[in-house]
Amino acid sequence: MGITNYTIVTLGSHSALQILKGAKDEGFKTLVVATPDRIPLYKSYGNFIDEVIEIKSWGDFPKLEKELLKRNAIIIPHGSFVAYLGLDQNKNMKALYFGNKAVLDWEENRKMQRIWMEESKVKVPHRFKRGDKIDRAVIVKSYGASGGKGYFTARNQKELDEKLKNYNEERFIVQEYVIGVPLYFSFFYSPLTKRVEIMSIDKRYETNVDSLGRIPAKNQRGLNIEPSFEVVANIPLAVRESMLAEAVSMAERVVETSRKLISPKGLFGPFCLETIITSSEEIYVIEISARIVAGTNCFINGSPYTYLLYDEPMSTGRRIAREIKNAVKSNKLKEVLD
Ligand code: AMP
Ligand code: AMP
Repeated sequence: MGITNYTIVTLGSHSALQILKGAKDEGFKTLVVATPDRIPLYKSYGNFIDEVIEIKSWGDFPKLEKELLKRNAIIIPHGSFVAYLGLDQNKNMKALYFGNKAVLDWEENRKMQRIWMEESKVKVPHRFKRGDKIDRAVIVKSYGASGGKGYFTARNQKELDEKLKNYNEERFIVQEYVIGVPLYFSFFYSPLTKRVEIMSIDKRYETNVDSLGRIPAKNQRGLNIEPSFEVVANIPLAVRESMLAEAVSMAERVVETSRKLISPKGLFGPFCLETIITSSEEIYVIEISARIVAGTNCFINGSPYTYLLYDEPMSTGRRIAREIKNAVKSNKLKEVLD
């Protein structure tokens, strides 16, 4: 079958526009599934979205299974899949899926993520277990939280104990708060070329932590402002060239380790290493996202880094479609689907 026999489908949110634009540029039919409030948005992009299917709520997506199978639709997962559908619903769907679903367990579980990073010889912030003495500033993260929602910080043991009294989450981790700048490195690993490509670099614009400096400390006194980390937008970055080599090497080690830990195919396609870089240029990975991240939306017409490899605008969404296209052409579609 040629590529026109396949439809690229995704949920209408997160990075859907980028994914579908890229799919159309590569010659695929495109379909978006969205809730009523978003239908006008996706309909307004009829130039690259062939079909819009409305569902009442995200939870109804699995009910479209037959429709998706009929169309040879290939699902491109993004951040909203696990967040809105849940891990099991997502895994149980039989429609064609770009990526390795086994990676989802490793991504969701913060402890498994940590094992994966440590085995890859990647620096991670110290994690405090229950009963450990807290000897530095910490950040508390619940499981499954996305976009920094519900995180909080504490300067010391006393403040942590106080704050945990009113904390209702069941599962959370207490992590060293790393002083440095957050930087999100997006990559693409191709199982066809066996190459890691750096796609783009961005930082998040988080409320309110990214604007606290607008009010001098003396004016903040008494206002009782707590930092929060909810992402609102992303900002493009270009890093010092000397850091690229280490970033790519880290990404290669993470892919390599995934093939040992997450059998049989390991991690492939788009992924993001979310890092904090300290003043001594140490790169700490605070999290891995094993899929396209929203920061790549800054680069729908390509990034400085994709420009080095491609003589045309290459977004991460388009790179996904290109991989599927190359797989179809070389009869290796099974290698990139689950
Ligand atoms: P763990 O055995 O580390 O998974 O911890 C089990 C549960 O204990 C977590 O889900 C939290 O509810 C809580 N917990 C974990 N770390 C800490 C910590 N440093 N201080 C207090 N409670 C914690
Ligand atoms: P995450 O959900 O892990 O990507 O974290 C969301 C945001 O919380 C990051 O962009 C940082 O601003 C902040 N953050 C998370 N973990 C740490 C850490 N260990 N040290 C400092 N800041 C952190």
